[in-house]
Amino acid sequence: MIGKHRIKELMDLDKKHFLHPTSPIKQQQDQGPSFIFTEGKGIYLKDIEGNTVIDGMSSLWNVNIGHGNEELGKSAMEQMSKLAFSSCFATFSNEPAIRLAAKLAQVSPGDLSATFFTSGGSEANDTAYKLARHYWILRGQPNRKKIISRTKSYHGVAMGSTNATGLKPFRDFTNSFDPDFCYADHFSTEDLRRVIEAEGPETIAAFIAEPIQGAGGLHIAPEDYFKEVRRICDEYGLLFITDEVITGFGRTGKYFGMEHYHVAPDMMCFAKGVTSGYAQLGGVMLSEKIHQDFMELSTGTLLHGYTYSGHPMACAVALKNIELIEQEGLIENAEKMGIELLTGLKRIQGERRIVGKVKGLGLMAGLELLKDCQTKKTFENPVSPLIVAEAAKRGLICRSVVFDGQDVVVFAPPLIIKKEEIDKLIDIINESIAAVEEAIV
Ligand code: PLP
Repeated sequence: MIGKHRIKELMDLDKKHFLHPTSPIKQQQDQGPSFIFTEGKGIYLKDIEGNTVIDGMSSLWNVNIGHGNEELGKSAMEQMSKLAFSSCFATFSNEPAIRLAAKLAQVSPGDLSATFFTSGGSEANDTAYKLARHYWILRGQPNRKKIISRTKSYHGVAMGSTNATGLKPFRDFTNSFDPDFCYADHFSTEDLRRVIEAEGPETIAAFIAEPIQGAGGLHIAPEDYFKEVRRICDEYGLLFITDEVITGFGRTGKYFGMEHYHVAPDMMCFAKGVTSGYAQLGGVMLSEKIHQDFMELSTGTLLHGYTYSGHPMACAVALKNIELIEQEGLIENAEKMGIELLTGLKRIQGERRIVGKVKGLGLMAGLELLKDCQTKKTFENPVSPLIVAEAAKRGLICRSVVFDGQDVVVFAPPLIIKKEEIDKLIDIINESIAAVEEAIV
């Protein structure tokens, strides 16, 4: 049992020394951290006060395999003891990175065949933009520099990925409005065409899209959307980049989200689920054609590389994680449990008067809140943060999205979740919405 004075000490030290990512600064100053986690097992996290909560977001949509997996811990320890780090610059290599690159070529969509490794999703996206631009330099079209992304997209927080992020508050934060980044409506291929024509196709390097938008409020594109995107990219000669940082490695009930749309990209970014968050790893995959062009046209050095590109321990963890995801049938489980999750949320929609639309694919789901479901009127002040707070009190972590006037609660539990655990999650969220409904009458 951890004493009260130690908890207070940690709270005070956190307030004084720890600047938290994507967190309200004032709230941290006034109240300290909302949870100090100490342990995790399966879908559960335990905090320093001994409270157990369901991790209904797989933390940051990444702990696909669940918490406390000892085999992953063992693979990290073994690799660290043997070779914790060596460089991949200057053509140096290591076995886990080589084997992981080969495994990714085997499981990813289309003819994606070569991987550039990074430490996470933001770096993966920035790498994709840089490789796309360099590709066009090699192809003799150096004016193709612009990147088109979508409204309500989230691509991370490095400078390029911030600019590609369609959620404006992330760009407002640093006054980042690079004119080489432009945005098309997230569901409209006509708008994509309009943006390409307006900017000039000869100036555009690539279009990037998440198969399903997660952080931006859980948006699932219409069925034919990506087929048409692929046609448009081919017509205008743009590269099509998919950001599978959340949707990769089973999250949507398929290996990769784009499989639902039967479309293959020219480049694919991944991170998060590749190691289930047990180590920091991401990357960009290139299609066979792009890779070949790089090989044939490049005479110099690929002047882009992170110290931790191809980190042996992170790659060893990824290999074990992928092996376990396959062995334990977690992609199939995500599909099955995703149906249970959506069914449960639809039941809540029938029972609660402030729940508008319910949406989901695999173990990614969202509930839209409305003041009046008939007229589709939204609340003046979003209620999703209140629901998330009520859920936390009842032992469930989920996330609220309020960007662009949205009011959505999103869920992404670990892929190992069982039916009875889904039922528990649904009960908690139903009670939490009921409590908020009562409070706002
Ligand atoms: N792309 C998408 C679709 C994401 O959801 C995220 C993070 O949530 C990122 C990129 C950024 O990844 P990271 O936080 O690992 O840099």
